[in-house]
Amino acid sequence: MSENARRKLAATAARKAGVDALLITHLPDVRWLTGFTGSNAAVVLPVVKGARPALITDGRYTAQAKQETSGHRILIAPKSAVIAATEWMAEAGIRTCGFDDGNTTVATLKQMQAALPANLRRRMFQPVGSLVSTLRWIKDDNEIRKMRAAAALGCKLFDNILEQIVPGIPEAEIALALEYNARLAGASEMSFPTIVASGPRSALPHGRATSAKLPRRGFVTLDFGVVLDGYCSDMTRTVHLGRPATDELRVYEAVLEAQEAGVEAVRAGVTGGDVDEAARSVLRRAKLDKWFTHSTGHGVGLEIHEGPRLAAKQTQKLEAGMVVTIEPGVYMPGKFGVRIEDTVLVTNTGAEILTPSTKAWIQL
Ligand code: ZN
Ligand code: ZN
Repeated sequence: MSENARRKLAATAARKAGVDALLITHLPDVRWLTGFTGSNAAVVLPVVKGARPALITDGRYTAQAKQETSGHRILIAPKSAVIAATEWMAEAGIRTCGFDDGNTTVATLKQMQAALPANLRRRMFQPVGSLVSTLRWIKDDNEIRKMRAAAALGCKLFDNILEQIVPGIPEAEIALALEYNARLAGASEMSFPTIVASGPRSALPHGRATSAKLPRRGFVTLDFGVVLDGYCSDMTRTVHLGRPATDELRVYEAVLEAQEAGVEAVRAGVTGGDVDEAARSVLRRAKLDKWFTHSTGHGVGLEIHEGPRLAAKQTQKLEAGMVVTIEPGVYMPGKFGVRIEDTVLVTNTGAEILTPSTKAWIQL
């Protein structure tokens, strides 16, 4: 889908919301609608047929905006893009504008109001939620291709790091090696701070890599992602150093079974709650569900955490083209934890796993 087609989709959604225009300031949304990757930007999408959208940014980005985008006007303003966009809308005769109240601070909204002539202040800005972010949940072929490439790089990095996982090495050194190799392979950055959580620290669901040294015996959880061509990857594998205790094996088997049940439940038409329940019920049967303290998964794309949410009682239905994670875990404070996470593409008949690195027990 071209950026132009995406702008039409967004304008249609804005028309349904009953506003003259849509103001987009959340940068991943700006990128999705225009291709622009600068750090100060706003897009105005007028709803009226034939009216041209505008990308507003500042002088640092004059050349970049021209290079990266087309099909809309580019306005360069020596100030905050959202304020310049507000002033431009008032002058262009736009009288009501939908804004993303999920991504606009109270302070910014006050500044936007203050930039309007007094007679427009009361009605101009109407909260319409994160309209464009929701459109981004469904990926087109081009995006799926990029997400496949990002996920494949993640798998390669995992497979290659295994030989470096030995007792006595600091967690941070494992994280650094992963990140170094990611950059060498073309990633622009990591999608979030790399998690390397070893021994009792594996019981921390978000245990960022520290100077703690890998133990002679125990789990090591690696949860990481790369940003490749703008798109995020996300995967978790938990490996074991030395011989496991019986309860470690039992928990690993249960988490793996829950994770596979979650993947198995994914297809267009089921709800986020259905998928969560498929994974959670396996852990319930194993009497481990009280240690599964987060939701089963989330959408991934230009952002590491997007919709839809795969959590208890979520009624949002999955649709073909969504890319979501399936990541149940069991965390026993002070003892150990296990999480296994894949990123999958939702299809009409099931799920295609984009992160096919082995999930079988790995003992190092
Ligand atoms: Zn993850
Ligand atoms: Zn995740």
